[in-house]
Amino acid sequence: MRAGEASTDVIIVGAGPVGLFAVFQLGLAKLKAHLVDILDRPGGQCAELYPEKPIYDIPGLPICTGQELTDRLMEQIAPFEPVFHFGEMAASLDKTPDGKWRLTTDVGTVLTALVLVIAAGGGSFVPKRPPIPGIEAYEGTGVFYAVRRIDAFRGKRVVIAGGGDSALDWTVSLAPVVQNLTLVHRRPEFRAAPATVAKMRALEEQGFVKFELGQPAGLKGDDGKLDAVVIKRGDGTLLDVEADALLPFFGLTMKLGPIANFGLNLNENLIPVDTEKFETSTPAIFAIGDINTYPGKLKLILSGFHEAALMAQAAHRYVHPDKVLRFQYTTSSSELQRLLKVA
Ligand code: FAD
Repeated sequence: MRAGEASTDVIIVGAGPVGLFAVFQLGLAKLKAHLVDILDRPGGQCAELYPEKPIYDIPGLPICTGQELTDRLMEQIAPFEPVFHFGEMAASLDKTPDGKWRLTTDVGTVLTALVLVIAAGGGSFVPKRPPIPGIEAYEGTGVFYAVRRIDAFRGKRVVIAGGGDSALDWTVSLAPVVQNLTLVHRRPEFRAAPATVAKMRALEEQGFVKFELGQPAGLKGDDGKLDAVVIKRGDGTLLDVEADALLPFFGLTMKLGPIANFGLNLNENLIPVDTEKFETSTPAIFAIGDINTYPGKLKLILSGFHEAALMAQAAHRYVHPDKVLRFQYTTSSSELQRLLKVA
């Protein structure tokens, strides 16, 4: 969903492993959730930083990769039908006249709920900006750090910079639709998956991709409209490549971002919480996973899972102050099994 409005029981900022498991715990308490994540898919650090690395300390799973854990969590929460808002940054927070939280994203989606859960990990992933003088003037008009719609580049002259998976994946995906495509990388070797590199080389041979060894060093254009990317080649010479768009893929860094302005107490960019409910200094706003801090905190996935379970109990009291949440086991409760769609 994009640029819409929705009301739910709980809004979760962050679809990392802890945000995903929070959906499960909230679901058992019959609370519905919407999740917002700036990434274009679930899994947070597990999916973005180490999808193929093995994790050995998830209880009951002797070994699973970051991506496998994400896939299993998605399967586990599917019965609760969470609504995801991917590719959106939780940008601002205020209250509605009837006392609900109203979260607005950077693309204008407005979500309201009685409870807000911040599961934002180390903060939002933001693209690394290449050191090109004046690049800010072209961001969003001629310089793009993500491809939201392939069609936006149809028939355009495109320069892609970088040597990792994103740079090579988008080179292969965009080459058939653009007018021409130049890939720039400072080395002849690529860090991307070998199969994707082979596809790129095949497209190069067929004339769909031009490869330049070097780095983007300057931009030429007017009023944010890009005309050319200046490439500094390995031998120091400069080359102007005519272009409508530059797509730099130089990795991501994590920044706390707009959550810093949500009015919460912060301690060195972490959110202090109690250890009974994992609630912040603001009632009905909880913080779980890597983003929170309390005495003895361990930044482990399993800690976040525990925090999600206790948070859900307290969230239930805000949404249904008149109802008691009965403690039940999934093994033996037919009510929970119905919610899980296994009974
Ligand atoms: P994250 O995984 O960081 O997810 C937070 C999500 O919130 C992100 O997707 C981010 O984009 C999103 N977000 C933040 N701010 C906003 C915003 N304003 N708007 C929209 N979205 C936002 N832990 C273990 O337990 N065992 C291990 O073996 C292990 N190995 C690791 C190996 C590596 C290389 C790394 C880097 C970490 C490892 N960890 C391990 C740590 C583990 O990955 C973290 O503890 C875990 O990812 C925390 O989960 P989270 O859901 O709290 O946060």
